[in-house]
Formats: sequence, C-alpha cells, structure tokens
Amino acid sequence: MTSMIRPILHTAPRRRSLASPEGVACRAIDHRRIERAVREILIAVGEDPDREGLLDTPARVARAYAETFAGLRQDAGVHLRRTFAQEASGDDVVMLRNIEFSSMCEHHLAPFLGRAHIAYLPSGGRVTGLSKLARTVDVFARRPQLQERLTSQIADALVEHLQPRGVAVLIEGEHLCVRVRGARKADAEMVTTAMRGVYTEDRELRREVLALLHSPFTP
Ligand SMILES: [Zn+2]
Repeated sequence: MTSMIRPILHTAPRRRSLASPEGVACRAIDHRRIERAVREILIAVGEDPDREGLLDTPARVARAYAETFAGLRQDAGVHLRRTFAQEASGDDVVMLRNIEFSSMCEHHLAPFLGRAHIAYLPSGGRVTGLSKLARTVDVFARRPQLQERLTSQIADALVEHLQPRGVAVLIEGEHLCVRVRGARKADAEMVTTAMRGVYTEDRELRREVLALLHSPFTP
C-alpha cells in the first residue's frame, strides 16, 4: 500500500439559513410539553414566568429545541447513500475541512460548538457530495450529544454508507458547560479523532491525514 496521498481539499460550504428544511421533524417535537417544562424550570429557579420578559420564553425555547434536536428524527443514510462515480485512483483522499456545527452537551444541556474535519479514501471510485458530508455532521450534532460520540458516529456513518478504504474525522469543540460554569476555562478546546479502515492500521497514512486535517487553509 502506497502512502502517497494527493489531497482534494475543499472548504465547507456556507451554512444554510436557520430555517430548517426538516419541517416534518420539527412537527414531531412536542412543543406544548417543552413549554410546560420550561415554565416549571423558571418557577423552580425563583422566577415569575408571567412577567412580561418571560411570557414568550417557553414557546421560544420549544422552537429552538425543535431545531437543536432535529437530528433525532433524521437518518444520515438519506444523504450519504447518494453517491456518484469519480475518476480517481484509490489513493486520492477526499477531505472537507471546517464544517461548522453546534450541538448540545447531553450532560448539561449546554451548547458546544466547533468545527469538524472529515477525510476518506473512496473505494471503487464512489464518492458522495461535499454538502452531504456537512449534512451528516448536522444529523448527528443536532441531538443531545457528547463530542466523542459525535466524532465516532460521523466516522461510522461514512463506513456504513460509502464503504471507503479509510475514514478520519477530527473535531475541535468549545464547550459552554466548561466555559461558563464548573472549571470556567474560557480557552479550553476539546479535540477528538475517530479513525477507521486503513487509518487504524497504517501509522504513516494516519500521520499524513492528521497533518492535512490540521494544516491551515490557504486559498
Ligand atoms: Zn457539559
């Protein structure tokens, strides 16, 4: 196996607007129940949920959660199964860096956000669209989540639906639960990786792909 990698580098597409295309998923969320629960929380912390500034808060939170947790009712396979043939040798790595995401730490229901970087070595010349990689990140990010599991789930979805020779996922995340409470470390950044296929077996390939995932983008 050669360790020559010719990268096809791309930057992430602009994130689409906040209007969710998954209208069906949003309707499946029980807005009324969230509103009741948020009202209870406000009372429990000693607030008056009926004062003017808080009157619409339960409904706002319900709408926000419908979007934040939309990934619970989505399947990454819907995006990743749409592959197309590409004239490429098996050694051409496909890489999408700087995919912005926001997720929700399941331990504190506090946001964590950052960037995902994905690389894979296609097999049989089948590749997926770059936007499909970005959507796959969103499917798993929009759930109660842990960064370690988010990283693994993205890698495993690529393995399942693209059957590539190798997958490398690196995620850099900033966790608001660390920043604003507890340890209060403002600049702490969490880095997680998930390697699959040849990247678990070949240390040289792994070293190369990690260097590519990390290196700064120069247009
Ligand atoms: Zn947390």
